Amino acid sequence: MTDPDRNFSDFKLERKECEKCGATWINGQHVWRGTGAQTKDSELDLAGLVCNKLGNHQCINPKKGEVGGDTWEYRAGYIDGMIKGRKDSLKEMGDLDL
Ligand SMILES: [Zn+2]
Repeated sequence: MTDPDRNFSDFKLERKECEKCGATWINGQHVWRGTGAQTKDSELDLAGLVCNKLGNHQCINPKKGEVGGDTWEYRAGYIDGMIKGRKDSLKEMGDLDL
């Protein structure tokens, strides 16, 4: 005999939140707050951006303390590069003397 509700009863949403960092995991998968995005190695990025700085024993990020993800230094460098590229292209436009 099959129970029509069976498929639904198997589906549950398990939501965990790191008390320290406020990071959210849904069914064991880290989800970025705000965007709700799920990215590869996001736990590692989270560790580099948040948990390694703010996290303590309360932090539930399994990658806390590991390095190799994004860091603010990396992101700052990325943004600096973008700004420089933008300035260069504006300069090029200026050089065209339109
Ligand atoms: Zn944490």
